[in-house]
Parts: sequence; structure tokens; C-alpha cells
Amino acid sequence: KEEHIRKPDWLKIKLNTNKEYTGLKKMMREKKLHTVCEEARCPNIHECWATRKTATFMILGDVCTRGCRFCAVKTGLPNELDRQEPERVAESVEMMGLRHAVITAVARDDLKDGGAEIFAETIRAIRRKVPFCTIEVLPSDMKGDDESIMTLMDAKPDIFNHNIETVRRLTKRVRAIAKYDRSLQLLKRVKELSPNTPTKSSIMVGLGETKEEIIQAMDDLLAHDVDIMTIGQYLQPTKKHLNVERYYHPDEFAELKEIALSKGFRHCEAGPLVRSSYHADEQVNEAARD
Ligand code: SF4
Ligand code: SF4
Repeated sequence: KEEHIRKPDWLKIKLNTNKEYTGLKKMMREKKLHTVCEEARCPNIHECWATRKTATFMILGDVCTRGCRFCAVKTGLPNELDRQEPERVAESVEMMGLRHAVITAVARDDLKDGGAEIFAETIRAIRRKVPFCTIEVLPSDMKGDDESIMTLMDAKPDIFNHNIETVRRLTKRVRAIAKYDRSLQLLKRVKELSPNTPTKSSIMVGLGETKEEIIQAMDDLLAHDVDIMTIGQYLQPTKKHLNVERYYHPDEFAELKEIALSKGFRHCEAGPLVRSSYHADEQVNEAARD
């Protein structure tokens, strides 16, 4: 029988929902859009949508061609490509009054460009409609295909984010298909193509990694010119997903953040509820000040 460790109190939070939130959810369904905020039942949704005016859209459908063992997104045969999606995302960004939009996507290994063109079109559509909104992209590794990376970067996102998700040793167990080195290479390549675009990556902790391995991941990211790192607690989405091996205390996150900053990251968010897109609006502002 598997042992499950208890969730500590700092992770027991109630979802704060109100009328505005219900209205926005309805709009998302009408526009056939998916947000990570809703699908991952992100605990920060109220803060992000209402106060910080940030949201994370998941484009290219809601079915992923991969099946990572930490992720709640459906796996299977992907949806047909929806060419109107970029425009609908832009309309939603406008209606929500967003100041920072994060665009992520399922992995589309069935498409030659991994979905890069739709990413680029989404960036351009948001720029046309809401020019002041900053845009962060969080794509899959696009199989490391250079042409796809160039297609996406051609649309000039404000932040390029790609997660290594975990330390090197656990990558095979945690991520499907994606490779630790390929993700690092992708981040480095983006920096070469666009030196002024801040790059960012995230790991989840609580999957059985050691502190030394986390520190090694920081060094690896820095060696590939990554500017921003985020570190959050892994939470098991369903019983079929990987178990949580350990819950880190907020003080441990504070220590990791300190280490990351002392090593040279320009910005680091670390905390139990930190997600890849958490406080992303601050990061872009900070990057712009530099
Ligand atoms: Fe959405 Fe990210 Fe905010 Fe969570 S942290 S609500 S996923 S934007
Ligand atoms: Fe989830 Fe991304 Fe893995 Fe697909 S590639 S299963 S969306 S983490």
C-alpha cells in the first residue's frame, strides 16, 4: 500500500471566487478558450485575474500528444488546428483588461512546426488589439526544431519561458519525451536569437530531488543564460499522477530563492504556491528596467 503524506496547512487554501470570476469563466467557454488558471485549478486565480490582470491561456487545443506524469492535461489525438484561436485569445485579453498575458500550449508533436506559427499569430493578434499588454510565451520544446523556434521568436514575445520542470535525474520519470538538455539548448538558442528577451524556466520540487540537484539545475540554467527562475511545490493532480515525496516548508523556498539570486538570476520566485506564471507581471517590469 502506498503511503501518502499529509498536506501541510500552508497549502490548504480556499478558492476565492466571485461574480466577476464567474463572468470571466462563462466568456472563456463561449470563446472556446482554455486557461491553465482554471484547468490546473490554480490557487492564485483570484489574485491573478482580478488584481494583477494576468492570465495563462492554453492554445492549440486541450489535448496533448505527450503525457507527462505530473500534468493534468488530457492526452490523446489532438484537436484540429483552429486558425481563429489567436483572434479569440486577443479578444479575451482585451475583455479581461489584461496587462500581462501568458500563452502556453499543449505539445503538438503531430504538427511540423509544433504549433509555432499559431503561437506567433497569437502574439501578433494580442499586439494589434492590446498594445500595452506584455506577452510571455511558454511553449513546449517544439522538438528542438530551429525553424520552429525562429518562427515563434519572429513575433517578439516580451518573455520566453520554457520549463525544465525537474532536476536532470528525474526528467525521464517526470516528463514524457522532453529531454533536460534539449530544453536547456532551446533556452540558450532563444537568447542567441534575441539577446534582449528575458528567458525564464521553472522547476517543481517535492518529486524526490535533493538540494544539491536543485542547485545543479540552477547552475545549468545559468550556464544557458536563463535570467529568471521560478520554483514551486509539486501537487499531485489525481491519484494516477506521481506521488508527492515531500512538502517543502516556506522557509526552505525562501532559502532556495536566496541561493538563486546569489548565483546570479535576475529574478526568482519561490514558494509553495508559485507557478510558472506567478507574479510574471513584475518580472517583465523588472526586465524592462534593466
Ligand atoms: Fe493563472 Fe498562472 Fe496566475 Fe495560476 S499563477 S492563476 S496559472 S496566471
Ligand atoms: Fe502536460 Fe505539457 Fe507534458 Fe503535455 S507536454 S503532458 S501539456 S506538461
